[in-house]
Amino acid sequence: TRRTIIAGNWKMNTRAGSATELARGVMQAVGENPSVEVAVCPPSVYLHSVADVLAGSSVGLGAQNLYAAADGAYTGEVNAAMLCDVGCRYVILGHSERRALLGETDAMISEKLAAALAGNLVPIVCVGETLEDRRSDNTEKVVETQLRGSLAGLDETRAAGVVIAYEPVWAIGTGETASPEQAEAVHAFIRKLLGELFGSEVGDQMRIQYGGSVKPGNAKELLSQPNIDGALVGGASLTAEDFVGIINAA
Ligand code: 13P
Repeated sequence: TRRTIIAGNWKMNTRAGSATELARGVMQAVGENPSVEVAVCPPSVYLHSVADVLAGSSVGLGAQNLYAAADGAYTGEVNAAMLCDVGCRYVILGHSERRALLGETDAMISEKLAAALAGNLVPIVCVGETLEDRRSDNTEKVVETQLRGSLAGLDETRAAGVVIAYEPVWAIGTGETASPEQAEAVHAFIRKLLGELFGSEVGDQMRIQYGGSVKPGNAKELLSQPNIDGALVGGASLTAEDFVGIINAA
């Protein structure tokens, strides 16, 4: 049995005041013993202040990226040890926005994955096809290439703790969600591939989140699919009401 995990990716939004207010709102609404695992992922400059708000609560803290090196001359970057130091438990890796806008490759993501695990963070590795990929019937091929590349070198004894996020690029921030059937088909395909890579027992333990225009109104149907084990939420994680609506639908 895989524990459902709902994570909010705040992307490049909020300010110091609104970030702590949002975290407080989520924490209060979620309470002490949520039936699902919950995390929020603020911009890195606000991790510290959000960590202070969430201290001792059931809501986990995640970062949106890391740099795969120990301390040193890497201007502008933040590593796994720093994220742990400020209280992070999770880190999102290889989000499609970073792949598209910042040139992140599968090879870079596999290095980040190793760094995250070495730093005791729970990695959330993102994959997903573009509209063009889907229209040309290349969804499975693209997702398989991304997974094989991003998970390259992952030790099967560590794999069960890695979370995968399937986020079709055409469904991100567009209001257009993959139908539960469309999403489930890709999730089942991912599960099969994870079984081939790490053995079916491990593949069955790995959690696969869906992301892309998840809202309180569509969350229940998506999350009730057998291979959808949670959600990675963008826009709807920016208000406590919507985010908690999704959590309560799980
Ligand atoms: P939206 O929920 O805004 O579509 O974003 C999804 C996403 O990219 C989460 O990482």
